[in-house]
Amino acid sequence: MLEIQLQGIPASPGIAMGPVLCFNNKEPEREQSSISKEDVSAEVARVEDALKKSEHELQKIKRTAMQRLGVAGSMIFEAQVMMLLDPSLLHAITQTIESQLLDAESAVTKEFARMETPLLTAKDSLLRERAGDIVDLRQRVIRNLQHEHILSRFEGEAVIVAEKLSPADAVVLSKSHVLAFVMDGGGLTSHAVILARSLNIPAVIGVRSASVSSEHGSYIIVDGDAGSVVINPSEETKKLYNEKLNRMRIFSERLSSIASLPATTFDNRHITLAANLDRETEIPIARRAGAEGIGLVRSETMLLHRSDIPGEQEQYVYYKTLAERMHPHWVTIRVFDIGADKIIAAFPEQEQNPALGNRGIRLLLENENIFIPQMRAIIRASLHRNVRILLPMVSSLEEVWQVRETSECVKRELRAEGELFDEHIPIGVMIEVPSAALIARDLANEADFLSIGTNDLTQYTLAVDRTNENTANLYEEFHPAVIRLIKEIIDAGHREEAIVSVCGELAGNPLATVLLVGLGVDELSVATPRLLPVKNAIRNLAMSDAERVARAVLTLHTASDVRAFLNNWRSEHEARMPTDVE
Ligand code: PEP
Ligand code: MG
Repeated sequence: MLEIQLQGIPASPGIAMGPVLCFNNKEPEREQSSISKEDVSAEVARVEDALKKSEHELQKIKRTAMQRLGVAGSMIFEAQVMMLLDPSLLHAITQTIESQLLDAESAVTKEFARMETPLLTAKDSLLRERAGDIVDLRQRVIRNLQHEHILSRFEGEAVIVAEKLSPADAVVLSKSHVLAFVMDGGGLTSHAVILARSLNIPAVIGVRSASVSSEHGSYIIVDGDAGSVVINPSEETKKLYNEKLNRMRIFSERLSSIASLPATTFDNRHITLAANLDRETEIPIARRAGAEGIGLVRSETMLLHRSDIPGEQEQYVYYKTLAERMHPHWVTIRVFDIGADKIIAAFPEQEQNPALGNRGIRLLLENENIFIPQMRAIIRASLHRNVRILLPMVSSLEEVWQVRETSECVKRELRAEGELFDEHIPIGVMIEVPSAALIARDLANEADFLSIGTNDLTQYTLAVDRTNENTANLYEEFHPAVIRLIKEIIDAGHREEAIVSVCGELAGNPLATVLLVGLGVDELSVATPRLLPVKNAIRNLAMSDAERVARAVLTLHTASDVRAFLNNWRSEHEARMPTDVE
């Protein structure tokens, strides 16, 4: 059999190999079908029964999601259950059956189509994903009408290959032994991807022809770091990947031995190594890996898969829990970063060009009804003096002034109410757009710390959408423009004695560690699986080497030169140096 190599987008790291399980959740085409008047009540009874069964299934899935993904991850199923329980759904379907004399399946399809169509044609990918939730729900109801089942458990272990996986599919399948997920489509924010990351299952998405190129039972290799997939690998390819896998296994076993050691270069420069956190369930992982704080809480993940904004008290309980569980370390709560790629149901506004539209701090400053309760909740949670506030998508100094005003006003209110909180709660600014990078010194003068969001900084500097599969190859964090901006930001921050952190994905790439440390960064905040690899890279560095590398990289002209230089340095360095972990 011919070896097929396919390239997609890396979605969850790690390498896996094994048999393919082709997962088909496509519904068969169905013609609309009429009934006679006498059949109406039987059809309505079938719908009632199917809605009940669907609700029962979703309650079970919700419980599994709760165990695996925490409360936030289970919200989507709660939303689906609520839709099913809404009496107006049954009422509308019943009316369609009665008035148009359609069978149950046709009436269900018609009613759901009314909700799906506007969302399916939305420009925004998150809204389209929401439409996907409604499509999933319809398919579930239809399956239950027809007493059909899709695969929910399998024996042994398998790599799941699918055109697309619904959130429920991902949760249900994860109860069996999934080695990896491969999808033809899918977004980086899809549930299957989030689940894969939390369960440490490698995943590659956007592999356009994966499902047509693979057959049930064929052998597949999935490289979630490189975003590549090999179907029917030759013995030689298998051997190469087996060796790589073996090296990774040994590496990760040895890595755990440095969990309790500090992130200090061997000439004693300490870098604060913190974790980025999307869900509370990641706290034990961060703590086990010795994270010295949370450098970025993406608070907007609270808003996903729900149609309202949690009130002050609900937010307060969440932030306080994070602060208590991380104490005495810092927890840096980024205020809601809503807009562009982070559209939420409670804020479904459509703009012509959302990436350049009302998003991040701009949106919050215009919507005090959202911003003030969140600021109150964060400031109240700062009682033990280990909470910091972080502002996303800042592009001007005025925005920071306005936030300061709001924060002072909130503090006055809280004081009057007799609340205790940290009077000096630090406020940091994310540097994610070129304008902020260029006025970093002014921002640093006004803020308590800077945090460089290299994900957005890269996309806004290079004018490349990071979620677009067509331009994925142009999205390049090692572009000299990005590296030089990082250098300028760090220097500007230090001139104003502000701590400068990097919290984008670049911070979690061990290839970049020597460069970022050499450029003078004070803090790195990384996804939890990256804590130990980055700590290892720091511990095997000397500051003088790192500074030399940074100086050299700043003279390079292309991203491939930067990557080649760093790869080369790493191989030579590893050959030369005694390391904690080889
Ligand atoms: C960034 O832009 O680098 C960042 C950390 O924020 P997010 O990825 O949540 O946009
Ligand atoms: Mg960002």
